[in-house]
Amino acid sequence: MRLTVIGSGPAAPELDTPASGNLVSSDGTAVLLDCGYGVVGRLRSTIDPRALDGVVIGHLHADHFLDLAALRYMHPWNGGGDRRPAVWLPPGGRSRLVGLAEMMSERPSFFEEAFDLAEYESDGPFEIGDLKITPSPMQHYVPAWAMTVADRSGARLVYGGDTGPTDRLLAAARRADLLIVEATLRSVGEDEVTRGHCTLDEAIAIASAAEVDRTLITHYPSVRRADVQAAALAAGTRFSVAVPGTQIDVVPASDRPATADAMVPGQGTGGVALGHREAALAV
Ligand SMILES: [Zn+2]
Ligand SMILES: [Zn+2]
Repeated sequence: MRLTVIGSGPAAPELDTPASGNLVSSDGTAVLLDCGYGVVGRLRSTIDPRALDGVVIGHLHADHFLDLAALRYMHPWNGGGDRRPAVWLPPGGRSRLVGLAEMMSERPSFFEEAFDLAEYESDGPFEIGDLKITPSPMQHYVPAWAMTVADRSGARLVYGGDTGPTDRLLAAARRADLLIVEATLRSVGEDEVTRGHCTLDEAIAIASAAEVDRTLITHYPSVRRADVQAAALAAGTRFSVAVPGTQIDVVPASDRPATADAMVPGQGTGGVALGHREAALAV
């Protein structure tokens, strides 16, 4: 499967990136992990949002779900008929969407009419197309879940969403082929006593302890991008920093070269070592 970063920004809007959104594509399935503001418009430069098979929302903060409203206004979907994208929400999410529809002066059934809405349960796996997705509870200011996405080849991607440093993320990410982890904070002092976000050092420490193959840092203010990239580079070639357009092919350990960084096919002669690759930043 392939990851494409759509948005890497935190809650405060940025000039050069939408809020949280990560597209995961396999041969037959396209799923968006989180749908924060600005994501659907930016997604159009990668795929037609009406072709999404599903959207999975990790928690109900605006920078992770509010563009479901934008997506809804793209209805009707490609192909017409009864095909509707699956939208998987946290527990209690359906009634929250009814409230959002009413706030928008739309019918209470506004979202239900266009999406196949469902609520997941903690640690309860579900499938969208050929992808299996497992939500794991994290540590945030509101209930929040990380998503583990597995494809039929055995490749495993873990998207932590918003979370403070927690053993639960460490457990979910253990030996993942790709971990997408947030680094919202400049320092621990910016956070509340009960932690809800990570610093960059904490993100790197969790990824290292979990022995993941590749780590992508996300959910950081753009003004800190140069510092975050320098720190990721210093942490080693297995770390890189998300910007809109970053693409990583996620392959299981059994399919990776034994001695070198994984390569991205089709990205120039012989591929490009991911650790040294900087995707173009679309503004
Ligand atoms: Zn957030
Ligand atoms: Zn949040």
